[in-house]
Amino acid sequence: MGEVTKNEEKKKWLFGRFPPPERECDDENCPFHGHLRVHGRIFRGIVTSAKRQKTVTVLIEYIKHDRKYKRFMKEHSKLHAHNPPCINAREGDIVWIAECRPLSKTKRFVVVYVEKHAKAE
Ligand SMILES: [Zn+2]
Repeated sequence: MGEVTKNEEKKKWLFGRFPPPERECDDENCPFHGHLRVHGRIFRGIVTSAKRQKTVTVLIEYIKHDRKYKRFMKEHSKLHAHNPPCINAREGDIVWIAECRPLSKTKRFVVVYVEKHAKAE
């Protein structure tokens, strides 16, 4: 009956939902191998840009109910997410991102899983 630390609890939360990456990394901000804790919202989206190191832009779509017009609308937005070296998401990949503490001014999500890799060229 060892004490479960908060960090281990969070990792269980993560591992229970997504399989850990095949590779390991030494990134401090990796939710699997570093100390980054994820919590809150999870989104699925497509990587639209992976040009910057360890950062990707992910396009997500969600359904929103419009009160004024009383119907559901499809909305989309772009989120910046941290891209740990062990995951290494690339442009065109379908990924899952989870909310974490702000890593920079615009970055408060991290890629936790690549559901489908873009076609290799
Ligand atoms: Zn890692």
